[in-house]
Amino acid sequence: MNIHVLWFRGDFRLSDNPTLAAALKGADTLLCVAVDDTQWRERQWSFQRRGPARLTAWQHATAALNDQLTSLGQCLHVITGQAGHVLPTFLNSLLVPSGDNTRSHVRVFTQAFHAPYEQDDLRALRARLSELAQTSGMCGVAAVVTVEEIDSGDLLDAEKLPFGKASTLHTLPPVFTAFRHQVERCDMPMRALLPAPLAMPGPPLGYESGEALPRAAPLQLSEQFDYPLEVSEAAGLKHLAWYFSDQKAHHYKSTRNGLMRSAATGSGYATKLSSWLALGCLSPVTVWHALKSFEADNGATNSSYWIGFELLWREHFRWLHKRHGASLYKAQGSVAQQSPPAQHKILARQSADFERWRTGQTDSPFVNAGMRELALTGYVSNRMRQVLASFWLYEYAGDWRLGAAWFEHTLLDYDVMSNTGNWLYIAGLGSDPKGGRRFDVAWQARTHDPQGVYTRRWSKEAL
Ligand SMILES: Cc1cc2nc3c(=O)[nH]c(=O)nc-3n(C[C@H](O)[C@H](O)[C@H](O)COP(=O)(O)OP(=O)(O)OC[C@H]3O[C@@H](n4cnc5c(N)ncnc54)[C@H](O)[C@@H]3O)c2cc1C
Repeated sequence: MNIHVLWFRGDFRLSDNPTLAAALKGADTLLCVAVDDTQWRERQWSFQRRGPARLTAWQHATAALNDQLTSLGQCLHVITGQAGHVLPTFLNSLLVPSGDNTRSHVRVFTQAFHAPYEQDDLRALRARLSELAQTSGMCGVAAVVTVEEIDSGDLLDAEKLPFGKASTLHTLPPVFTAFRHQVERCDMPMRALLPAPLAMPGPPLGYESGEALPRAAPLQLSEQFDYPLEVSEAAGLKHLAWYFSDQKAHHYKSTRNGLMRSAATGSGYATKLSSWLALGCLSPVTVWHALKSFEADNGATNSSYWIGFELLWREHFRWLHKRHGASLYKAQGSVAQQSPPAQHKILARQSADFERWRTGQTDSPFVNAGMRELALTGYVSNRMRQVLASFWLYEYAGDWRLGAAWFEHTLLDYDVMSNTGNWLYIAGLGSDPKGGRRFDVAWQARTHDPQGVYTRRWSKEAL
């Protein structure tokens, strides 16, 4: 009996989902599960890892996926706890030999995340499952359990790129420009899209129905979007079609540094695809094909090219994680030699500055506006993220890990690899050949908010 388990960690969609495709292959029965991980509620600093906007986005994504699965005779089980512990317990009854004492083969499939917590979860899961399989074998035939990670959140395929063996990537260029040139020289070999399944095997006995999922609150993003935001595959596909429905992509390069919607650009000054990409409601390959299809119909310009360029930044940070993993997370980043100061010492030393920055009470009204928008909506533009990070790192001499942790708490589109990669880059501790990016805040305000519209808009809001 081939019992397959699909642990949805970050790819909440049915179409173009390589992890789902792998889980469906040869499955006699399929169990779909997501974990509301209690680690996200932990306070490593003075706040939880996951704030309210991110929780809401996650609830939207899981509820929508459950609806999709239900229409195919399946369901999404959402369990709560620390994934490495709660998941094996939840799966335990699958490991018990069946009445005729035949060996079960349980295969768990999940999206690969090359970041420390996610890797720890997987190690704990593997160890605990193999213990449980041994125990089940004592009263019959031991089940065979495997856990398989699939890179379903990537745009590029390791096998088709010149970075050495997929397991080591020893020739991966550390700097973005060299990475991009090498990828572009290979002509960006892109796989075809995988269709959403039309049918699925049912869940195993005893797992036929999931628990009722909590109703997700609406998201508060009306000013950055033209419509109420929903984080689901259907909403992501609709947004993608909307973005490419006219000529926005031909203006992207000149509008992408906008801070907010305006009469001239509407909310489409940037693609705003990040929330759907971060939760995997859209695959980057889907976005890539939509971009290419837009260019086939409307012509390719340097501006439309730039959307692919930015997707390659996302990719660059993912590949750096594959290559360097947890070693990127040192206080001194990937160039670290010394041991990092303990987190409680950093917080004690920086707590007054951190409170001013976090709550938008610095001496820069422009920065304060950004911090307030971030805290209140879970979203700020890319330019504003750069300014806010630079302010924390260079004006307050803040530890990058504390700044990045606050972004992790607040950002609706939080993505561990993009967030860490960008923070390290601006701090000059990652892949920036110039050794860091200090933004002149006054100049940024004059250039990107010359009339002070953005600053006034958010300075009124109380936190
Ligand atoms: C300090 C800091 C932290 C960040 N944290 C995150 C994060 O947690 N999650 C996240 O998705 N992005 C993060 N970014 C990158 C970027 O700011 C957002 O992806 C972008 O603002 C999202 O808006 P958009 O979809 O309209 O982007 P667009 O400008 O339309 O770009 C299209 C897509 O390209 C990718 N992209 C664009 N810029 C970057 C970049 N600099 N790095 C990586 N990918 C990029 C995103 O997937 C984005 O959706 C961070 C940037 C900074 C400076």
